[in-house]
Amino acid sequence: MKVFKGKGVCGAIAMGQICVFKRLDASVKRHIIKDSEAEISRLERAKLLAKQELSAIYDKALYEVGETNASIFEIHIMMIDDDDYNESIKSIIRTQHVNAEYAVSVAKENFASMFSAMDDSYMQARAADVKDISNRIIACLSDKEQYDILPDEKVIICADDLAPSETVSLDKEKVLAFVTAYGSSNSHTAILARNMNIPALIGLGEEFLDEISDGDMAIVDGFTGELYLEPDDRTLSKMEKKRQADLEKRMLLHKLKGKDNTTLDGRRVEIFANIGSVQEIGSVLLNDAGGIGLFRSEFLYLEQNDYPTEEQQFSIYRKVLESMAGKKVVIRTLDIGADKKCAYFGLGNEENPALGFRAIRICLSRPQIFKTQLRALYRASVYGRLSIMFPMVTGVGEVERILSICQLVKAELEAQGQDFDKDVELGIMIETPAAAIISDRLAPLVDFFSIGTNDLTQYTLACDRQNPLLEPFCDTHHEAVMRLIEKTCEAGHSHGCWVGICGELAADTSLTEKFLKIGIDELSVSPSNVLRVRDRVRSIDLSAK
Ligand code: PEP
Ligand code: MG
Repeated sequence: MKVFKGKGVCGAIAMGQICVFKRLDASVKRHIIKDSEAEISRLERAKLLAKQELSAIYDKALYEVGETNASIFEIHIMMIDDDDYNESIKSIIRTQHVNAEYAVSVAKENFASMFSAMDDSYMQARAADVKDISNRIIACLSDKEQYDILPDEKVIICADDLAPSETVSLDKEKVLAFVTAYGSSNSHTAILARNMNIPALIGLGEEFLDEISDGDMAIVDGFTGELYLEPDDRTLSKMEKKRQADLEKRMLLHKLKGKDNTTLDGRRVEIFANIGSVQEIGSVLLNDAGGIGLFRSEFLYLEQNDYPTEEQQFSIYRKVLESMAGKKVVIRTLDIGADKKCAYFGLGNEENPALGFRAIRICLSRPQIFKTQLRALYRASVYGRLSIMFPMVTGVGEVERILSICQLVKAELEAQGQDFDKDVELGIMIETPAAAIISDRLAPLVDFFSIGTNDLTQYTLACDRQNPLLEPFCDTHHEAVMRLIEKTCEAGHSHGCWVGICGELAADTSLTEKFLKIGIDELSVSPSNVLRVRDRVRSIDLSAK
């Protein structure tokens, strides 16, 4: 038996045979051609075919993993038409008189190395995308499949890395788990695997690829990040027990559907869900969340090539509110900036984007964008129970400006005879140390606080949340963060605000008891964590010493 250690992306256990993911011969030969223009026409036909394939993959992804995750394939379609990329290929064909396959493969390497050398991690990730689309065009030029078809039985797919299109194209019914030598936990592939709910391990290192062959027996432990190759009997039976226990736990958790989030001594807490798109509502309902505690509305903007109109936004907010059938829905206004970049906003580069022009700062500086979103939100408010929340607040003046813009929007809607709920709750995220420290001054202005522990932790501990090197320094349980949470909760309650937590810490069940003792009213977590947190709440006795 051999054991390899990587990082678990999706917590579950899979046992079965390995299938090494094979890309079919991608080697490209160089030929001299006579008619460059005919070769360029051949290239254009192949690009068309590649785009048709990608649009079919997009439809499949839309169905399996939702719009936000599927949008990568729309980006791929756009990349195929990128001017610089195309000009480069055509120029290679024309100046070197070479075949299109060769020109695409040269452009692929040039663009991939250019992206990899960039400072920005988002741009670095584009290297994999440009390789992916180039391989597709080359396959279309040569009329070949890109990779082998999977065997009939379910298998553990092992690869150096998987491109997003490869992950989605694989028949989900035949995949027990994904295991890759490279990759990061925030890569699109990892996100897709998580959303497809397939156990996945990443970053096992290159050596692992030399050790595996098709048909080898393996166990994937998505909890510990371990892969057991040809496991011995002891490991096999230990892992079988762990798998059974996990399955039983999942079944048990589903038995908690319909049950209260009440501690043994009778204290109730709301458990809501965080989402980024309408497609995730199915999962919110399936996991029996009491409402939506954070709808990250910026994803609507990130999925588009231009500002979403009032009508587009209205129809989305309405859909969310109608689907939640009277349960509370907290929609956060645009939180663009920092790692969430949106080209058409024309924000330019910043030295420190996390400390930069983002979220409410953009909204207050560009009130037309803000007002459009607020109009859509207020108009949708009659279709359910809406609360509006504002991100990245640091001071009283900001909140006063936000509230006066809300008043203005309401007055305009009223004058136009538009229906809206006059009592929509307004709240702010407490995700800067400044907001937490002056929470007693902010609380009288609003109806609720929702603590964004992801940003609150990064700003309090001065640890960039995007930088994996800082993981050892980023103590999410740090006393400074805990004190700010306590202070915020106390200040909110003394002015009649309800106080929730919507950062990742809300799902940390080692802190649930502490949060309840502090008096937190609501925990908003990813849909798949709702029942796990409910289970924890129901086991707590706050009266016990
Ligand atoms: C947070 O900062 O904790 C939060 C919930 O917002 P986001 O993760 O979207 O920045
Ligand atoms: Mg935040």
